[in-house]
Amino acid sequence: MHISDIQEQFSEYVVANYSRLPICVVRGEGSHVWDSEGKKYLDLFPGWGVAGLGHCHPAVVEAICKQAAKLIHVANHYYNEEQGAFAEILSSRAGGRKVFFCNSGAEANEAAIKLARLARQPRFKIITMKNSFHGRTMGAISATGQADYQVGFTPIVPGFAYANMNDLASVAELVDADTCAIMLEPVQGEAGVVPATQEFLQGLRRLADEKNLLLIFDEVQTAPCRLGEWFGYRYFGVEPDIITTAKAIAGGMPMAAMLARPEVAAYLKPGTHASTFGGHSLGCAAGIAAFGVMERENIMDNVKTLGPWLDDQLAPIISSTIGIKAIRRCGFMVGIELDFPGEDLVADCRNHGLLINCTHKTTLRLLPALNISRADLEEGVNILQECLHRALRRTGSVRLKPGRG
Ligand SMILES: *Cc1c(COP(=O)(O)O)cnc(C)c1O
Repeated sequence: MHISDIQEQFSEYVVANYSRLPICVVRGEGSHVWDSEGKKYLDLFPGWGVAGLGHCHPAVVEAICKQAAKLIHVANHYYNEEQGAFAEILSSRAGGRKVFFCNSGAEANEAAIKLARLARQPRFKIITMKNSFHGRTMGAISATGQADYQVGFTPIVPGFAYANMNDLASVAELVDADTCAIMLEPVQGEAGVVPATQEFLQGLRRLADEKNLLLIFDEVQTAPCRLGEWFGYRYFGVEPDIITTAKAIAGGMPMAAMLARPEVAAYLKPGTHASTFGGHSLGCAAGIAAFGVMERENIMDNVKTLGPWLDDQLAPIISSTIGIKAIRRCGFMVGIELDFPGEDLVADCRNHGLLINCTHKTTLRLLPALNISRADLEEGVNILQECLHRALRRTGSVRLKPGRG
């Protein structure tokens, strides 16, 4: 099918809640995708972080095919082998926390919100951060500290208060007798790769201990391996009570998990919470395969090696270019903050065969596959640099610093 026919079909039958780019992806392999017109792209934002092992990793594909022929789903009324095995893999990499499975990041956060209230009832208030992003369900948009996501959906779920990232006093000020938890992304993704400082997270841990609050890390984007550790909390060396994760945990399958310290997890008794699809055999088999690949292919070493290498590649671009305000990198999360809107630049990259994202209008965002090769990453940086320089020339004034370029 030609792209215009596909677009016509979408406009006729699909709810128009996404602003879609004029590309229909028909095939993916590693860090590359092909569109319906046969054009090949280097994908440095694969699946918004879902394709952590690139597209269609052969080991994941094989596990899905084998499992699909055996058993896809049974109700959580029964046991299934794959769920137990995947839970053991996750738990053993997350300090023995116990696992509840669901299907999306927002759902994992809903589970965390419910558990925090249940475990500390009648307290109910949860402090989250401004500029955070926790998903699109009612609980998740209420936790999200950005009014834009709540407009049109009020009243939001009561009991959320928003503090400033990396400002411990602003959190402490909001804690009162009703507060049960503090929830945050250790590195804010949607906000444009804004990391918490270790000092801030340590302060939150102390505050939580003092006031008997639960500390919740939304690691939907930062785990697994995105920061060069199985879970992001290890990158910061601060232990949360509850972790949520989703996106890349099962090689592209819709899977998510909430992990809680056993004493906290114990509050979720039969009847308190559930998910029909949660922990289904197919997704768990894909997850087991994905974690096998992460271990065998030394994915965390790749992130730890190519991350600093990427800094070296990007440094001359910053120093030679006036339009870049900052580059922020944590593991394989990269935010490049421009002093002009990035949308046209992203389109130019696309035309030149590179897929990246722009968030909050001016921050370019890269979430490369964790197993990407140095050659692919280098190609991406080169295309990005050319497009960036073209964008700066287009804005009129010569914006390249003299003598560079
Ligand atoms: C993507 C994301 C979510 C939402 O995940 P969904 O699977 O879209 O519900 C929540 N939190 C963070 C940090 C995310 O990056």
